[in-house]
Amino acid sequence: MVTTPDFSPLELERYSRQIRIEGFGIEAQRRLKGATVMISRVGGVGGTIAMNLARAGVGRLIIVHGGKIVGEYLNRMQLALPSDIGRPCTEVFVERLEAMNPDMEVIAVPENVSEENVADLVAKADLIADGAPLFEERYLMNAEAVRQGKPLVMAAMYNTEGYVTTIVPGETPCLACIFPKKPDYWTNIKVFPAIGPSPVIVGSMGAMEAIKMITGYGTPLKNKLWFFDLETNMTKTISINRRPDCPVCSHIA
Ligand SMILES: [Zn+2]
Repeated sequence: MVTTPDFSPLELERYSRQIRIEGFGIEAQRRLKGATVMISRVGGVGGTIAMNLARAGVGRLIIVHGGKIVGEYLNRMQLALPSDIGRPCTEVFVERLEAMNPDMEVIAVPENVSEENVADLVAKADLIADGAPLFEERYLMNAEAVRQGKPLVMAAMYNTEGYVTTIVPGETPCLACIFPKKPDYWTNIKVFPAIGPSPVIVGSMGAMEAIKMITGYGTPLKNKLWFFDLETNMTKTISINRRPDCPVCSHIA
């Protein structure tokens, strides 16, 4: 049995199956435990990322999400139950995530990402996972991640579709390279359509991206956009490129 002062016997048992993955091992597990991940919006997508990272053994999560649990969250947010309706989202999410992994620290920020808090939040994290439904929040997070040189996992869904890529400032396209402006279909939307499997799949893929980036295991989706549509079972990975004229990231070598 592997012994190390870094982990309790229960932690080693909890992570034993992933430590057995070739190329992963105890060193990857140490890196996870040493990492702080900030998750913007902890709904269908971000909540799935948070649950997977909690179970995988990330040391600290900063969960950023405003508002209270409402009934329409319940078709896709795995962290929420009908008995939670009316409770502040972060209060519920912290309770569930700490129950999943008591060895992890969870820091709750009961508001959404804004111009006022984005610099401070990004500064506290080693990696950012973006599960926000609104492009305005995503653009803010993208610009700040680029400014501070922090990796950003972008996981997004709409309807039965999902999109994932990992942004590494100076190395890959940023969000503004991929979407110089909000997609037309998004501009006027107030309530986007969603069914449970889409955010869970896209969030699971996003969590794996975060794990890969933190540990060095495997091949992250750098310069690649992974895309699926559950209506037709279509999935594909396309190459994406930086825009030489991107107003957000083109100044970085
Ligand atoms: Zn860019």
